[in-house]
Amino acid sequence: MILWSKTYVTIIISILISLLNWNNLYAQNKMKQKDTLKFENKIVPDEIWRETYIALSHYPELKNTPIEFKFKKEIQKSFMQAQPKISGLLKNKNKRSYFVLISEQIEIEDVVFDVKNVPSEVLIGWIGHELGHIMDYRDRSAINMLWFGIKYLTSKKYIQEAERAADTYAVNHGLGKYIIATKDFILNHTHLADTYKARIKRLYLSQEEIMALIDEIDED
Ligand SMILES: [Zn+2]
Repeated sequence: MILWSKTYVTIIISILISLLNWNNLYAQNKMKQKDTLKFENKIVPDEIWRETYIALSHYPELKNTPIEFKFKKEIQKSFMQAQPKISGLLKNKNKRSYFVLISEQIEIEDVVFDVKNVPSEVLIGWIGHELGHIMDYRDRSAINMLWFGIKYLTSKKYIQEAERAADTYAVNHGLGKYIIATKDFILNHTHLADTYKARIKRLYLSQEEIMALIDEIDED
């Protein structure tokens, strides 16, 4: 009986030790993973590095493009916004750098929303959409960018074109399921105001259009 207990205790202890080791190993691996997943020419806040990494990995073209992801107190009418850095606007377009501004909180019709509570896949879709804008900006000259800014501010139709282009880039880069998650999140979120949802419906690709695009890619 005593012998059995000893064996039993030994087994329990060794299981516990290996569990502890495994946990340690796991933590180490996680650290290592984060260290090795270095972003080139990117500045990314810790809170969103994982989502940003996944979104960026779908855009190999942006590997060398300097992008700074930055939290801001509030951005008008949206959670995120991609824009070229003013300082680099006149540089050669290959050397241009960009901001992706992310609202820490967003207030839509009196309801305050915290971006850190947004599910991961929704965040990936959102970041993927913003990277789509950067893909679109990349080929534009400085004059064209300026013209883009003016038209974006003054024409609903132009906003629609730009937003749909960004969504299309994201879907064509394999982020379709994330873009759909983002759309689902916005359109089915009871806390978000109907006027905001209507704006999203009006300006962005619909879920059906995204599904059709994904099907097209799969056929290719
Ligand atoms: Zn957009």
